[in-house]
Amino acid sequence: MSQVDKQLDDIRAEIEQEVPNEISITEVTYEGPELVVYTRDPKTFASNGDLIRRLASKLRKRITVRPDPSELSEPDDARATIEGIIPEDAGVTDLDFHHDTGEVVVEAQKPGMVIGRHGSTLREITQEVGWTPEVVRTPPIESATVNNVRNFLKQERDERRDILERIGRQIHREEMSDDEWVRITTLGCCREVGRAAFILSTPETRVLIDCGDKPGAEDEVPYLQVPEALGSGPSSLDAVVLTHAHLDHSAFIPLLFKYGYDGPIYCTEPTRDLMGLLTLDYLDVAAKEGRAPPYESEMVREAIKHCIPLEYGDVTDIAPDIKLTLHNSGHILGSAIAHFHIGDGLYNVAFSGDIHYDDTRLFNGAVNEFPRVETLVLESTYGGRNDYQTDQADSERKLTEVIRDTVERDGKVLIPAFAVGRSQEIMLVLEEAMRNGDIPEVPVHLDGMIWEATAIHTTYPEYLRDDLRDRIFHDDENPFLADQFNHIDGGEDERQDVADGGPCIILSTSGMVEGGPIMSWLRHVGGQDDGTMVFVGYQAQGTLGRRIQNGWDEIPINDGGGRADTLSLNMDVETVDGFSGHADRQGLENFVRTMNPRPEKVLCVHGDESSTQDLSSALYHEFNMRTFAPKNLETFRFV
Ligand SMILES: [Zn+2]
Repeated sequence: MSQVDKQLDDIRAEIEQEVPNEISITEVTYEGPELVVYTRDPKTFASNGDLIRRLASKLRKRITVRPDPSELSEPDDARATIEGIIPEDAGVTDLDFHHDTGEVVVEAQKPGMVIGRHGSTLREITQEVGWTPEVVRTPPIESATVNNVRNFLKQERDERRDILERIGRQIHREEMSDDEWVRITTLGCCREVGRAAFILSTPETRVLIDCGDKPGAEDEVPYLQVPEALGSGPSSLDAVVLTHAHLDHSAFIPLLFKYGYDGPIYCTEPTRDLMGLLTLDYLDVAAKEGRAPPYESEMVREAIKHCIPLEYGDVTDIAPDIKLTLHNSGHILGSAIAHFHIGDGLYNVAFSGDIHYDDTRLFNGAVNEFPRVETLVLESTYGGRNDYQTDQADSERKLTEVIRDTVERDGKVLIPAFAVGRSQEIMLVLEEAMRNGDIPEVPVHLDGMIWEATAIHTTYPEYLRDDLRDRIFHDDENPFLADQFNHIDGGEDERQDVADGGPCIILSTSGMVEGGPIMSWLRHVGGQDDGTMVFVGYQAQGTLGRRIQNGWDEIPINDGGGRADTLSLNMDVETVDGFSGHADRQGLENFVRTMNPRPEKVLCVHGDESSTQDLSSALYHEFNMRTFAPKNLETFRFV
């Protein structure tokens, strides 16, 4: 008998001792980080409201109770009963029964009403029909990505369960080593922006944190070939943790599966969906630019299949000696700070991912309270001594001013924007400004992936700022459903109609004017001299966006028929800073200043060489802590 089986036997004996005699336990098993208990008496289990919580705290594990398949009522009968129990206002759109696990997935417009007070409605469902309900929200705006991911996971349910069982046994294996040490190796994003990747290792475990590309330098990938990472084979990695879906953190996650990795990816649910959207688009762009894609779309599906979604604040065993907790980082939808608790109180490390310290319209500011942290690995994108951004209120005022002036002279406003994050922030500014009469009500056309990304945002309101979340819960106040927003889905004809029409605002990808529908908008409206092009995001060196910002008005452009042509840009060009998803220098310092507890060591990463060094030296002088601006391929030993 293997050690894990023996452990499960012991746990089963302990559970049987704890539960009332009339409850019979048929199987106890691990699925990923969770302990799953099968019972012939799911109804009795559910009627003992406190039982699961008591077991979880006694065993110090996350517990799911499932009915033994023999105890399930027929789906047709169960359906009628469940529909009778859930209030009609909950807006149930789908019930999906899974016989192998005894789960029924309830998709509803208002999940809270399906759950009931302290889970009372869920317990009532189990008591009546035996099935274990799992609740998901019906996206208020239909999202092809969310649909595809959910359908795919449904299809792959059996294989996924096998994967989770295997991972579960891996996590709960016996510790082999008595040695104690903790190291971090930097595989990328040190003294540079892009290709984020780190290895956290102990004698027992190796965890990869992020695995991204470097924008504008396609051949510079993270140093995955070193022995600490994949150099000694794909099975030497225990787990991958993804802080957020931006490609400079996620682009090469699917590549790991091509190399033979077969373990878990821990991230939030929105990060999983956005990673799917962005990596598939990444393959698309590579193909269009004639580059060989580093992996096939099949590998994106493998990655999604291996995702274990965590909610902010869930403390999760990911190895015998490591617990992971994700916390809101305020940067984009689902973005997280990854906190690792190593050993039994041995050491604590937090990886910031990308952070925004202050609240924005979309997100609450980054969390900086932890039970313990000895070392912080901190992003430094705007860590340079002069990297101060305009106050967001001033930026919003300037943006509305530019729009008002343009619309008053009957012109169109063209805003290149990134699909995820900045676009939704701008949409919220525009919606409020129109509602308050600060700018005239004109149509706002959304092109490229912006609509799809917005739909994903509205699927996960609990990841948005409190007051925005509340407005989305009440459909009539959902700002993203405002009448003026129009999804461009009719292609060139629709764009031509817009170009021929009256004043309007156009938000379109790509954010740095490097391909995408923005190129087509430049052809349609770039020549109109009453219009304004407004930059609201960072324009990297060498991009067309940066050149236009610097005054280029003769733009080389593909005429659509494959011939190169030149376009005269007659629109005014304006730049409005201050809508960044990153903390500026002040925000980064504030994050560390108010951090509780304050870390002993800070590694400044994910910034240009001077930014990381500036930030490192400022934190050292201000807070008297040990700080570093590491290079790639350095290893730090902490214990
Ligand atoms: Zn990011």
